[in-house]
Amino acid sequence: MNKILPICIVLFSVLACSPVDPEKPPKLVIGIVVDQMRYDYLTRYWDDLSPNGFKRFYKQGFVAHNHHFNYYQTLTGPGHASISTGTTPSVHGIIGNEWYDRTSQREVYCVDDKDVEGLGSTTKGRKSPKQLITTTFADQLRLHTQFRNKVIGVSLKDRSAVLSTGHSANAAYWFAGEDEGVFTTSTYYMDSLPNWVSEYNAKKHPHQYASSVWNTLHPIETYTASGPDDTPYEGIFKGADRPTFPYDLSTLSPDYYKDKGLDIVHNTPFGNTLVTDMALLALKHEGLGKDEEADVLMISYSSTDHVGHQFGLTAIETQDTYLRLDLELERLFSEIDQTIGMDDVTVFLTSDHGAVHVPKYLNDHKFPGGHDKSKGIKDQVNQVLFSKTGVDNLVLHIGNDQMYLDHERVAKNKLALDKLADEAIRMVLTFSTIEKAFKTVDVPQLSPSEKLHNLLLRGNHVKRAGDIYMIPKPGHIDYGHTGTTHGTGFSYDTHAPLLMMGRGIKAGQTYKETSITDIAPTMCALLGTAFPNGMTGSVILDALLKADK
Ligand SMILES: [Zn+2]
Repeated sequence: MNKILPICIVLFSVLACSPVDPEKPPKLVIGIVVDQMRYDYLTRYWDDLSPNGFKRFYKQGFVAHNHHFNYYQTLTGPGHASISTGTTPSVHGIIGNEWYDRTSQREVYCVDDKDVEGLGSTTKGRKSPKQLITTTFADQLRLHTQFRNKVIGVSLKDRSAVLSTGHSANAAYWFAGEDEGVFTTSTYYMDSLPNWVSEYNAKKHPHQYASSVWNTLHPIETYTASGPDDTPYEGIFKGADRPTFPYDLSTLSPDYYKDKGLDIVHNTPFGNTLVTDMALLALKHEGLGKDEEADVLMISYSSTDHVGHQFGLTAIETQDTYLRLDLELERLFSEIDQTIGMDDVTVFLTSDHGAVHVPKYLNDHKFPGGHDKSKGIKDQVNQVLFSKTGVDNLVLHIGNDQMYLDHERVAKNKLALDKLADEAIRMVLTFSTIEKAFKTVDVPQLSPSEKLHNLLLRGNHVKRAGDIYMIPKPGHIDYGHTGTTHGTGFSYDTHAPLLMMGRGIKAGQTYKETSITDIAPTMCALLGTAFPNGMTGSVILDALLKADK
């Protein structure tokens, strides 16, 4: 026995050290963001998922079951910025997809930049990350490698590609639909589109998808995780009579666009196929993961969001979009296996926000909910403020559950902003759809012990926010009676999947609460880089092999 013991120790230490050295960073980090993906899509669609898409993370990687957005407003711009920077809108500044800018007196879009030009698109190219205040984990990696590595983002949406990568990205590519149907970028990143992008654009795949037929992947009677195909809760494509399969796309347009031609591809699973195509081409032509300097590829799938907005949470269209995305993931992973090897790659998958059930569907099943949470508020508050002051139109703008008062008018008429805000809050609280209201300037003093206060503290960027937050009751949205949306701090909007696998990731799972801001620090810990400069999240130790050493 005495002789066997040392041999066991030697054997154990050899086995413990192989096959991977937990200290060795990955050659490539792939971050996958599935736009509008709720955590429970994984459990609801589980029986119909393939073994090597989403399920591969469960077999080989780490699953955080209780993963949340930790700020208010849960939207695409803030979501992608928070994933990449490891902090919240209060610090990175992306408080919405757009917000009212008092200096220019208009709404600004989170990635618009008139100082750059589009490449490949005449209408959708002028974008950059200049409104993102802090650095991303990929930025820190660029600094760490003396800019010898590559960071590339791909998405249908410009804000998703731009904000998930950061200031020093080599490229962010997004889709210009309408009559162009091309992937584009801006002069912020480069002087001309690479040949591989131009060649892909020349193949006109979006045009082919826009004239194809979308039918269910499997026999429609197997979609038992969803409701019937024809319900009053689903948006109808323009040109169709009903929200039912099969869809002959050549005759249709998305219901909430007018005549945006190739934008119809957004609202079908084929939009995600285009994104995988581009991601695989970027892997191949940019040589990602091929040398010792770690690269980053951010892939954001947007069709899930467009389909969710149009059809809602219980539609067969939504389930079909996820089942097809599952196969896109399989296609991506199989390419990584063959060209780089998953042992040298770390992959994470998460979402940028969740979504609520269609409120009409909730009502029809005896749940509270409503469709017009802020309807009439601007007019009513303007009326009451006029009756008190004799000054009209003191409410400039309502957006992202915030009310912006006209500071110039307030000053010109020597009014007290604080008293006007109090008066406005009194009126706002008479609306049955609104549960609570706070002055933005009071948010820093709110007790962080209450969850909502914490979410507001982290979502509130004082220079960009309005004067008043208006918090709706759960299940209340500003949206039509078909399809759904997101944006609040309720769990249906905050609960997202977080799946990780590959280099440095331990097999396992946790039900401990993790936050969207924990992803970037966890990637930095794996890569051995400095943390993003505004980071407020924490490293998810349970997921890391190196944390066991
Ligand atoms: Zn959305």
